[in-house]
Formats: sequence, structure tokens, C-alpha cells
Amino acid sequence: MTFQDLNLNTPLYNAIDDLGFESPTPIQAEAFSVVASGKDVVGIAQTGTGKTFAYMLPVLRNLKYSKQDNPRVLILVPTRELVVQVVNEIEKLSKYINNRILGVYGGTNINTQKQAVAQGQDIIVATPGRLYDLAVSRVLQLKSIQRLVIDEVDVMLDLGFRHQLMNIFDILPERRQNIMFSATMTKDVDDLISDFFINPTKISIAVSGTPLENIKQLRYDVPNFYTKVNLLEHLLQDEDEFSRVLIFVAYKKMADRLFDKLEMLFPNQTCVIHSNKTQNYRLRSIEQFREGEHRLLVATDIMARGLDIDDVTHVINFDTPDYPENYMHRIGRTGRAEKEGIAILFSTEKEQEARQRVEDLMDISIETLKIPDDVSISTELIEEERPQIKEHYNPIKRRDEDAPGPAFHEKKDKNKKENLGGSYRREIAKKYKKPKTRGDKNYNRRNKNRR
Ligand code: AMP
Repeated sequence: MTFQDLNLNTPLYNAIDDLGFESPTPIQAEAFSVVASGKDVVGIAQTGTGKTFAYMLPVLRNLKYSKQDNPRVLILVPTRELVVQVVNEIEKLSKYINNRILGVYGGTNINTQKQAVAQGQDIIVATPGRLYDLAVSRVLQLKSIQRLVIDEVDVMLDLGFRHQLMNIFDILPERRQNIMFSATMTKDVDDLISDFFINPTKISIAVSGTPLENIKQLRYDVPNFYTKVNLLEHLLQDEDEFSRVLIFVAYKKMADRLFDKLEMLFPNQTCVIHSNKTQNYRLRSIEQFREGEHRLLVATDIMARGLDIDDVTHVINFDTPDYPENYMHRIGRTGRAEKEGIAILFSTEKEQEARQRVEDLMDISIETLKIPDDVSISTELIEEERPQIKEHYNPIKRRDEDAPGPAFHEKKDKNKKENLGGSYRREIAKKYKKPKTRGDKNYNRRNKNRR
């Protein structure tokens, strides 16, 4: 199929020419007429398959020029990085179209965004939280939204955005087209669809869980963190081969730890992204990696989801993800747009079960390589790898119910007395049941000066 077979228009054809795309990708070919028809659509496609253009081509094809201020297309994505990326893609396609596109996301000044919204927009790309805040502030009017795109629905739900999405559905016009894209069809995605959408057309180009064919997968059994570092160092020494490498780790602390190691081993070649880094730092890291300034990017799963970075030569799974779907997303960052990529998996003894789940999901066994002889095997363990010393019942240790309360003993009688002051007056008062003096003889004298 060629782009000519799709019913595009001249501005779009020109933009595609400039981008140098030769033919639509399978998801683009399949999605075009369904999305253009205005029906609700669920697309199952991983990043790298050209899914952004799969929904944007028909949406832009049908978006008429308008001067109205209220946006007509709303695109929701789970992370700020994706907002930036999707806006970028739409701008490329809109090179010859006169339309207004705005990306909004949290963590930045809402007032600046309010001003931009107030200038009038056609397409808004947003993370759910910030979108809702803007809508509630009434600066952003959603009553003209005709098409709602939710991209990376599965990540959206993984991140706990279901409630936010429902709030947004509530304030959108009922008559609208819903377009959803997800890399995997999880139960959560299925529930969301059956709860909120009427009979959407499903399109999918790869069965969820099927690895892209142009990714070569390899794995190593590695005993521990430090040996993983040694093996990684060994692999990365080949700078020509490993020229753009995405390294995944499960959590932030590990990302920082590995970044520190790599920064020592390969100074000024590494960048890192995880959710504790500032927005600017994250965007700069991605840019440095994308532009080839740095060849290594250490990332956590959530941060890297949906990121589209060209020509990633290798994806290294520094750890084996607990959820096999994460492995699929990770390796999907390489082997993109018909290019051969390599995915390498490191697994410790503890991670073997997770590795098995990955293989079960794909129904293949990954080719296992031996750790090269010149990689030294470390016996040193990091905190998380050391055996957890669990304390069993210890009769000498006091149990909670035996814990003493605050120190307490009965006071001696003499110590029970309270010092009330003015003992003479009280004694007299007790004796005579009324004050000894009826007035204060000195009252006038004392207050004379004040009057
Ligand atoms: P996506 O799956 O939307 O993240 O897109 C993956 C990459 O493929 C992006 O960099 C797009 O610019 C690129 N792309 C999209 N459509 C095509 C196409 N028809 N031919 C070649 N590259 C494409």
C-alpha cells in the first residue's frame, strides 16, 4: 500500500514527502479509514510501529480550518515527555496546515499554559491531571471536542489515571469520537473499554506480547549487581557496535547507582531519566541521547514508555522485569522502523522466574550466552542482594504487650500537696468562710495614678 491509496490531502502529502516516508506502516494503513469514518477505535500497537501518525493522519485530514478558540481535538498521553514528542510529530505533519497545537503538562507554570489556551487552539495534547486542572479553571473549554485520543492507555491505567480519565469523560461532550491506542491489551484496558465505549472497532497489527521480528534477543545469567556492571562495561567498550544503548533498570535508586558507575567508567557518555529528576533534566537527557551527544541512557520503565528514539542499537535489560509486558516495552525501543536491533537480558538467580515468564509470554527461549572469560565475577553484594536477616521469636526480647508504660508510683502524702500560694489568706478564708477584708483598702491609692 502507498500513501496515495489513503485519501489524504496535498498539505499532508507534502509533509510526508518532506519527512521522507515511503509508505504507510501496517497500523497506519489499517487505521486510516476506520479512524476517518468517525467510529470509536481501539488500536493495539507498540511504539515504533508508527501509531502516532496512524491516528494523526486521519484526524488532520478531517480537521477543517477554523477560527474558533475552543479546541476540537484532545490527545491524552501518560507522561510529559510524550506530550512533547506527540506535539513534535503533529507539528511535522502540520507543516503545510494552518492549525494551532498546544502541549500541556503538570510540573510547569499553569498560568503560562492558561494564557496559551486563551489564545485559541485546535489540538491539545495533555497529561490527564493538568488537562483536568485547566478545564476546571474554566480557561480551557472542552465543549467543542469532537475527537478524543487516548494514547498508551495501558500505561495510563498502570499509572493509576483511571479515575482522572473518568473525570475528564464527564466533562467532555457526549457526542465525540473515541480513539484509543495501547501497546498491550490488558484486563484493565478491556474493562475501561467495555465500561465507557460502545462497540469500538479493534485494529491490531501484532498480537500483544509478540516481539517485533527485527529484534535479536540474547541473554546472560549473571550472579549479582557488580558482575552485571563488569559485563556491561565489557560490552560497552565496543563503541562502534554499541553506539546508542538504552539501559533499563527497575527503580530509581538502581538507575542512579548504575548511572554513577557508568559515569566513572565512560565519562560524559551517559545520561539518566527517572521520575525524581526535574522536568528539564529529563528533557535534556532525552535530547542528549536522541542527538547522539551521549550514547548511553539509563532509564526506569515508566519514564521510557512510549519514547520514540531512532536508531537505538541495543536495549539492555540490566534487570529482569517482574512483569513480562515491561520486557516487551523495553525491547520495543530498538529494532524500530524496519531496522535490526539487539536486546540483551541480564538475570540473576533470583530473577530466573521472571525470565521464565518473559519467555512464556513470547513462547520462545532466548539464546543464552556465556559471560566472557575476561569479565571478572564479583562476590561483593549490594544492600538489596544481601540475605535479609529476619528475626524470629526471641524470648529475651520484650514483646509489645510486656512493654512498660510511663514510669509511675504512688506519691508520698507530703508530695501530694499542691502549692496554691498565699497560704495565710486561704487559712483565714477557710476559717471565716468569707474574705477577712471586704474591700481592698489600698485599691484607690494604687490606681490613683492611672486615672
Ligand atoms: P510511533 O510508533 O508513532 O512512536 O512512531 C515511530 C517512528 O516511526 C517515528 O519516529 C515516526 O516519525 C516514524 N514513522 C511513522 N510513520 C512512518 C512511515 N510511514 N514510514 C517511516 N517512518 C515512519
